[in-house]
Amino acid sequence: MKKIALHWQILIAIIIAVPFGILFHEFTPSIKWLGDMFIRALKMISIPIVFSSLIMGVSSLGGYKDLGRLAGKTFSFYLLTTLLATTLGVLLVNIFQPGIGADLNLSETVTDLAVTKLSFKDQIVSIIPENIFVDLTKGNMLPVIFFAILFGFFATKVNEKSSLTMTDFFTSAFDVFMKMTLFIVRFTPLGVFAIVSNIVAAQNGDHERLISIISSLGVYTAVVWAGCIIHSGAVLPALVFGFTRLNPYKHIKQMSIPLLTAFSTCSSGATLPLTIKESQDKTGISNKIASFVLPLGSTINMNGTALYEGVTAIFIAQAYGIDLSIGQQFVIVLTSVLASIGAAGIPMAGLVMVAVVLSAVGLPLEGIGLILAVQQLCDMPRTAVNVHGDTCAAVVVAHSEGEKLNL
Ligand code: ASP
Repeated sequence: MKKIALHWQILIAIIIAVPFGILFHEFTPSIKWLGDMFIRALKMISIPIVFSSLIMGVSSLGGYKDLGRLAGKTFSFYLLTTLLATTLGVLLVNIFQPGIGADLNLSETVTDLAVTKLSFKDQIVSIIPENIFVDLTKGNMLPVIFFAILFGFFATKVNEKSSLTMTDFFTSAFDVFMKMTLFIVRFTPLGVFAIVSNIVAAQNGDHERLISIISSLGVYTAVVWAGCIIHSGAVLPALVFGFTRLNPYKHIKQMSIPLLTAFSTCSSGATLPLTIKESQDKTGISNKIASFVLPLGSTINMNGTALYEGVTAIFIAQAYGIDLSIGQQFVIVLTSVLASIGAAGIPMAGLVMVAVVLSAVGLPLEGIGLILAVQQLCDMPRTAVNVHGDTCAAVVVAHSEGEKLNL
């Protein structure tokens, strides 16, 4: 019998996990450890891969000019797609108006969502690691990226022998980490099955939640899903095609493993090793580009999250009967973009950032209580879109650098 391709295995695992979670909801907690181990394994490999691949990639760039050009293209594409995603979300939520007439009794006081975010200035300052080992152990992606870029760059500025030793060392380390990733990837269907069945089981028997999901929250969730589907199914493909004339849908198929993993784990950070691996193996993007664009994207480029922030802020305003002016909606678009840049690639990060957007336009923070019931349902598609946005950027940048891709 022909072996079923891994992305089909993952899709089947997700589909079977739904009835399994409903029928055996008492049993699913006992397999939760499978999902926990899978996510831990992905996180285990994440920082080592980013660190070694960035050093290897940047040291092969050869100078300020290349690095600056690559960074310029990457940031421009990120900003463009994030803005488009938020605008799309804001348009949809204005058209369907899911919040009008929403039942405010649903609101709960939200205590654990206090806004403890760093200010924008502090975020910039903290990109420079005070102690790189602390940031490595804590998994703080931006300082690690910064240090690795610097290290990779200066590894080319030393004498030939030292330079070769360093690049050889990190290239070999990266090869080993990739092999480890390959091994972890094989367990994706199992991990995904455990995660999804537990998500489904957790919703079971909660009639109040079910009714609220079916009512206006259902329309709100549908708007988030529709936005994500339109962005990933039409906007991003149109951009990829427009910039490269390559087949964007073939690219989506090639990315099915990271996309499905992102969808199930709700963490673009944990998915990162798979994203890097598949972009190189399937699409043929060089390590140089993949290692620069993708780790950066997983921390700062979140199309799905930006879309979600915009939809949510306006949904909450509608639910409270607050009429937002065009100016206020514009502020929501801008803060949504900033909030998505500041959100971490972990589950629920986007929900925490909603507080930032709400306070920017003076909307009631308690509004977050309205959306808690469908939090996970909205996290799944937006995380997949976050990862898709990153891989599209990698395709566009790689193509513009003259790379030959399998698309
Ligand atoms: N879960 C998302 C991610 O990891 C972030 C978010 O909550 O919006 O990409």
